[in-house]
Amino acid sequence: MLDKTIRELIISQGPMRLDQYMGLCAGHYYNTHDPFLDFITAPEISQVFGELIGVWCVAQWQAMGSPASFNLVELGPGRGTLMNDVLRAAKIFRDPAQIHLVETSPRLRAIQGQSITATWHDTLTTVPEGPMLLIANEFFDALAIRQFETRDGKWHERVIGLADDHLQIGLIPTNPPPASRGRWLAQHDGGGGAARPIVIEYSPARNAIAAEISARLARHPGAALIIDYGHDVSAPGDTLQAMRQHKYIAITDHPGDCDLTSHVDFETLRKAFAHSAILEQRDFLLAMGLEQRFAALSARADSATQGVLQRAMSRLADKNQMGKLFKVMAAWSPGFPTPYPFGTA
Ligand code: SAH
Repeated sequence: MLDKTIRELIISQGPMRLDQYMGLCAGHYYNTHDPFLDFITAPEISQVFGELIGVWCVAQWQAMGSPASFNLVELGPGRGTLMNDVLRAAKIFRDPAQIHLVETSPRLRAIQGQSITATWHDTLTTVPEGPMLLIANEFFDALAIRQFETRDGKWHERVIGLADDHLQIGLIPTNPPPASRGRWLAQHDGGGGAARPIVIEYSPARNAIAAEISARLARHPGAALIIDYGHDVSAPGDTLQAMRQHKYIAITDHPGDCDLTSHVDFETLRKAFAHSAILEQRDFLLAMGLEQRFAALSARADSATQGVLQRAMSRLADKNQMGKLFKVMAAWSPGFPTPYPFGTA
């Protein structure tokens, strides 16, 4: 049904930019599907993930001077699993924490509301001002991007058009906005159109949210932890992917009925922040005590459960699983000490 709406929009208005297409698909998808049938996230793999983030949050709350009231914000909380695990590990700030969940899907809000008492928001901008701890796991990857591609040395934007009534990726000649062109691009084309065909990605939606978080960290004490798959150094490449029932499909198949995401360019994201650092998920989790926490759980488990725990730990931290592809980025207020374990490497 979203497929029909999109086809009609293209017939009446012409080919659609990828960010508009992704926005329409995400709105439909998160409100009509259980996303966890299509993919699984770290908090859904093991409670240890959220517990270690809870421990990190307690240390930041103490660095803020243990305020008697602060905003604990999560962007895109999914089933609410991460927030529940954070709160269990962080009993010490359960009373001071005013929980604000940024979630656009009414369906997921209802699920989150079953286990969490919170205030919900469509965007971060309506969260009240004040000291803040913010967490976001696999949120930025779902935000819309634009893609630009070179053909015969000329720039084009990738768009969704129609071919025989089917959705298809097409190209419209246009230059990428200057803000999208990283310094690495100069190595490819000297700024005027690449000799070798390349694709670059640009996400105004991500940059806008990063700027909003940064502005808040500048006004009030606080810290943010952003976890996602992506790269810590900007590079060209098409990373847009569609996932359905744990399998990759074409991005034009099943619009609104599959998960559309792309890798987060953390180098670009970090430009919004005055103070930030990044680690691979593996290094972050190990430094936070991943092995010790799993060992404690294993000690009271039967052998079948021990196997489950072992596999969950591998999934979160092994280099060929989530350990290396996933990055953990922290940002903090001016004057704040660099949060452990950032700055220890
Ligand atoms: N953090 C969760 C869920 C990740 S799925 C986990 O790790 O399991 C992405 C989440 O972001 C969903 O809750 C989805 O509804 C929400 N979301 C996606 N796009 C959004 C947007 N533009 N604004 C607010 N929430 C959004």
